[in-house]
Amino acid sequence: MDQNMLFGLALGLAAPWKVVRSGLEDGGEESKFLYVDIEVEAGAQMPCPVCAQLCPLYDHEVKRWRHLNFWQHPTYLSARVPRVRCPQHQVKQVSVPWARPESGFTLMFEAFVMALVREMPVSAVAELMAEHDTRLWRIVRHYVARAHERQDWSAVQAVAVDDTATRKGHRYATVVVEIDPQQEQPARLLFMTPERTAASVGQFVAAMPAHGAKPAQARLAAIDMSAAYQKGVREHLPNAQIVFDRFHVMQLAGKALDEVRKQLQHEGAEMNGALWALRGNASRLSQAQLELRHDLCARHKQLGRAMALRENLQETWEWPGAASAETHLKAWCSWAVRSRLAPFKKLAQTLKSHWEGILAFRMVHTISQMTTFKKLAQTLKSHWEGILAYYPHRITSAAIESINSIIQTARRRARGFRNFENLKAICYWMAGRLDLQIPSAFTHPA
Ligand SMILES: [Zn+2]
Repeated sequence: MDQNMLFGLALGLAAPWKVVRSGLEDGGEESKFLYVDIEVEAGAQMPCPVCAQLCPLYDHEVKRWRHLNFWQHPTYLSARVPRVRCPQHQVKQVSVPWARPESGFTLMFEAFVMALVREMPVSAVAELMAEHDTRLWRIVRHYVARAHERQDWSAVQAVAVDDTATRKGHRYATVVVEIDPQQEQPARLLFMTPERTAASVGQFVAAMPAHGAKPAQARLAAIDMSAAYQKGVREHLPNAQIVFDRFHVMQLAGKALDEVRKQLQHEGAEMNGALWALRGNASRLSQAQLELRHDLCARHKQLGRAMALRENLQETWEWPGAASAETHLKAWCSWAVRSRLAPFKKLAQTLKSHWEGILAFRMVHTISQMTTFKKLAQTLKSHWEGILAYYPHRITSAAIESINSIIQTARRRARGFRNFENLKAICYWMAGRLDLQIPSAFTHPA
């Protein structure tokens, strides 16, 4: 078997395509590349790309594609791609089995790039493949956009809407995540849009029909306590019960604690390492951090009080029933108001002004029980101004936390991502459970 036939077989080429020349060529600067030249057999007829009718060849155009490396050498396919003259569609360029139209890469190369960008930053893939990253970004955006268009939302009933930082500290985007009440599937990223306003929710809702979904099917929306998302959900998702998640409430408590620390530091207190020692649950700390936490809380009474308040607030979600949780929360608020800690007084007010419906607590575990849940929420609303929609607390907390961490990972993958569309593509690819449908081997439309 000669070398050309061997490359033809390796590429999965079928008649009338065949390899006519191949070899290593000097690419300058001591680099070599493999070239594989492909032609269509003389006298062949080819299908019109529109109607698939076999037509005589009209003329040719030479095109070139980057393919997977052959050992360490970049490989380029080049082909004289025929145009056919179709009786119905005039002169059309035939499609080639190894690449999609308008791409300078083969399908195999693109599939490889898509696999790599899940595992490493696009800039690193670009370096590895000796390609400019803007060309790779085009591949990523193409496949992700197509796969995302096909994403089916018809069974979505519960969503979490959250904001996430897209640049360190500053820029924010809104993400919409599907929550599975059965907890069988990990959270799925459905939608991402710049900004975090009421209109962001509207943009998600506007995208629903194209994914086979209707706004009315969303029964539950877990959001933070921002006015923007509350307004957005009320306006655009009329059937969704708003849930303020434990995750967000505790995030606010963490911020309040941090403000107490900053104030002490401002007044001259020694706070080395305090930021990390005070953050999060004790179970996540190292022994040294735990000791530092105890020491700080013992030395600074205000910090000790703030820590106790934060930990006590957490217990709200440990109560088995709504009534006892409600009692606990009421007690917490009056403690916070009397605590002489301004940030916690403010937090108590925030929680009170958001009692908007909901102290639903482990009573409902599935969406199918939403009716009961709604009735309960109504009752609570009428006799206690209401906060705390806390229905699938573990579910939403886990969903929000996992998506946040995926997005932060994606942000690192997308390092130097240049624009929001690129970041979005990587996020969808990593967290959207997309099916790219790239052919794994070249098949010729026989
Ligand atoms: Zn035709």
